[in-house]
Amino acid sequence: MSTIAENIRLIRKGLSKEVELVAVSKYHPIESIKLAYACGQRVFGESHVQELTQKYKLLPKDIEWHFIGHLQTNKVKLIIPFISLIHAVDSFKLLCEINKQAQKQQRCIACLLQLHVANEESKFGFSLSACEQMLANSEWKNLTSIKLKGVMCMASNVDDEAQINGEFKDAYDFFLHIKELFFSDDDEFCLRSWGMSHDYKIAMRQGSTLVRIGSDIFGDRQY
Ligand SMILES: *Cc1c(COP(=O)(O)O)cnc(C)c1O
Repeated sequence: MSTIAENIRLIRKGLSKEVELVAVSKYHPIESIKLAYACGQRVFGESHVQELTQKYKLLPKDIEWHFIGHLQTNKVKLIIPFISLIHAVDSFKLLCEINKQAQKQQRCIACLLQLHVANEESKFGFSLSACEQMLANSEWKNLTSIKLKGVMCMASNVDDEAQINGEFKDAYDFFLHIKELFFSDDDEFCLRSWGMSHDYKIAMRQGSTLVRIGSDIFGDRQY
């Protein structure tokens, strides 16, 4: 068995059954993705549009591609034909652009709203208040070619488990809050994307349903 297959097997054993594994393959070669594919992995995450579109062309078409990075509005149209889920929608403007391009290409695109919960200067993600405001202003309901399916976040890049746990808890509590306010009759608003290689076990304790794991599967990235 390849090391990659062995890593996936070990990680899967530790995942709660309602949690989906997104194998983050950014900066890893096609050959590594094929090894993961060979042991049944079908969901892959990438964070650069050009790298993703090239990999998409070369790999089996039953792969479910997730875009997990910061998405620039001018590149949205390139991934619309095949993307399964966009994790990090961080502005209403981006949501509108995804909707516009999806409509043109006659698709409906599943999206997650990225929340800024980390205690860091990270540039991306809605503050909780901005996210709630955006939802309260019901304009998003007119966007019929996108489907809001939940939320995503990244915890601070620290060793302090209590801090990481607190940040995921903030995201989970906020998810429950907006679910009740805006999606109470929408069973499809149910996804929580949090947890990476170093913190996915904590993330699962705080309601994660999608873990995005790169290094623990593929090893160090080659930049
Ligand atoms: C790269 C990346 C990951 C994977 O990180 P690892 O530490 O390699 O598991 C997860 N989420 C996002 C948004 C990323 O950019």
